[in-house]
Amino acid sequence: MGKSENIIELKHISRVFEDGFTAVQDFNLEVKRGEFVTFLGPSGCGKTTTLRMIAGFDLPTEGDILLDGRDISQLPPNMRPINTVFQRYALFPHMNIFENIAFGLKMKKMGREEIRRKVKKVLELVDLEGFENRSVSTLSGGQQQRVAIARALVNEPEILLLDEPLGALDLKMRKEMQIELKAMHDELGITFIYVTHDQEEALTMSDKIVVMSEGRIQQIGTPEDIYNEPQNAFVADFIGESNIFNGIMTGPLTARFAGGTFVCVDDVPEGTQITAVVRPEDITVTAPSEGQIRGEVTSVIFKGIHYEITVQSGRYEVVIQSTKAAKVGDKVGMKVEPDGIHIMQAEDHTNVFAVDMNRNHRLEFNGKELHTSLTQIIKGSRRNENKELLDENGELIDPEKIHITCTVEPQNIQMTDDADDEKVLVAGSISNLIYKGDHYSYVINTDLGQDFIVDDEYLWNMGDRVGLIILPENMKFTLKK
Ligand code: ADP
Ligand code: MG
Repeated sequence: MGKSENIIELKHISRVFEDGFTAVQDFNLEVKRGEFVTFLGPSGCGKTTTLRMIAGFDLPTEGDILLDGRDISQLPPNMRPINTVFQRYALFPHMNIFENIAFGLKMKKMGREEIRRKVKKVLELVDLEGFENRSVSTLSGGQQQRVAIARALVNEPEILLLDEPLGALDLKMRKEMQIELKAMHDELGITFIYVTHDQEEALTMSDKIVVMSEGRIQQIGTPEDIYNEPQNAFVADFIGESNIFNGIMTGPLTARFAGGTFVCVDDVPEGTQITAVVRPEDITVTAPSEGQIRGEVTSVIFKGIHYEITVQSGRYEVVIQSTKAAKVGDKVGMKVEPDGIHIMQAEDHTNVFAVDMNRNHRLEFNGKELHTSLTQIIKGSRRNENKELLDENGELIDPEKIHITCTVEPQNIQMTDDADDEKVLVAGSISNLIYKGDHYSYVINTDLGQDFIVDDEYLWNMGDRVGLIILPENMKFTLKK
């Protein structure tokens, strides 16, 4: 049978843990033979879980994993032509380097001479020739990680999985190892699936990047695609530095955002609500009269090869990278060429959630009564002398039969650090934040398991526990028939 071009295919893979938590959701991916694919995303987004399923250490609760077109979902790890390098080197401390690398081959009862030859070869490959008799404790972190890589490569896997393999190394060593790993990949021609939360690492090493957030794929593409054409605000914010603004298309190839009007290259219909992404290096500082927008410099930081200049322009904050310095207090103009603007259709961030009618015939959410008139939501209804709700025919309404959803815009939710305040409807922790020029957009993982999106002008921290307050006048209710 001829080998298919895709060495690995993941089809609709999900992993729901025993506690009900969904770590990976509907993950679809094709990996070509010999490709260098990187899973990139913040801590906790499901990278390791996905890798463990490919390796066979964990099983998907849904979906199929194909190797060369064959389903291997039920194959144990040692039957898969796959080896894994973990962030923690996990070498055997009481064995020398030779024994550490030879361990797996000895288990397979391979001949002594063949083992010696193979160990020598992989030690050369990781630049540790002659290290056979050294003990693990005499090696630096970088050298130990090379041994871990050699130990995986000695099995001659078709696929090498690397889970944040450089995460424990210092910056200089990490940069060196990035280059060496990439060279190793090119030399060996085997498929690498690499995991990192470091966007720069992903951009420099990969043929293909899979950007993940909260168990879901956000975008798959080449490093250039991901950087230049992010598909949503999450990707734009996570990859590189970005100015991200909400805006609207005001004409053909014309967008309005950040208090200015800009010509762009993305052909999006007039009237569309948009998210505009502008990289700091694509903004030029001009004289105030020559810019599309104007403002006052509020900070200047020298970053080695450029200055990072922050400008307050009306309500908006704009970050610029420039090789020319500026002074705090300078009045400047800012100019962006059409191809420096990336326009995306705005995501609908309206929060939608179900509310219940309780036994007291009042509206309730998360066990708290809402101060809302049910008679206005249920047309023709009225209350009797016992305050029970009657329908238009005068019959008692059964709360079980009433389904009402509530919608709230992100800017109409307030956050408080006093999660026990009686005004708080639901509490949770901040799992994501994106700066939008004049406010932050937050994702709150609530105790109910449902995420809320909240816009707030103040900076909160990832992981902060917050209570959400929604005023009655900002809730819109819809009765479901
Ligand atoms: P990453 O490698 O991207 O940092 P992981 O794949 O390790 O993320 O974890 C994804 C999410 O799944 C995390 O929120 C983690 O707490 C959760 N998780 C991992 N293993 C388990 C488990 N055995 N039971 C329940 N939740 C888990
Ligand atoms: Mg991980």
